[in-house]
Amino acid sequence: MPSVGRCPCPAHDETMNAPASASAAADPNCIFCKIVAGQIPSKKAYEDEHLLAFHDIHPWAPVHVLIIPKQHVATLADVGPEHDAMLGAMLGLAPRLMKQLGVSNGFRTLINCGPDGHQEVYHLHMHVMGGPRPWARG
Ligand code: 5GP
Ligand code: ZN
Repeated sequence: MPSVGRCPCPAHDETMNAPASASAAADPNCIFCKIVAGQIPSKKAYEDEHLLAFHDIHPWAPVHVLIIPKQHVATLADVGPEHDAMLGAMLGLAPRLMKQLGVSNGFRTLINCGPDGHQEVYHLHMHVMGGPRPWARG
């Protein structure tokens, strides 16, 4: 896992690298904010200054990770132009992470949004799933 520090991703602009940050925007009732803060354990797959990836507790596939921003953003419907770099970094991380985790035959990405989108945890996250089929779901 890369050490925590300034994110090397070219998509990260000054806004994203500003000290404003994660903990300042954390929601004390949010389970993924608690994972970011280390108050709930997780099996981490990647971490940098702005993003965290960890293995889903109920995986649908042999490899199933969730990529989240450290900053609390409830849903994809809540993002604005100021989040473009963060969203790009989340998407760009997916193939690098799958390669690192040994996924070589393709993968799925999924962001559920809101009640009709079957979102269960209201902290923005992208599912990334891969590995040999059959899968439990998906
Ligand atoms: P959603 O339906 O909101 O898109 O997906 C939420 C995902 O978070 C589910 O796949 C669920 O298994 C996962 N999840 C919920 N709580 C935890 C947790 O405490 N730890 C981990 N690693 N995954 C969780
Ligand atoms: Zn949160």
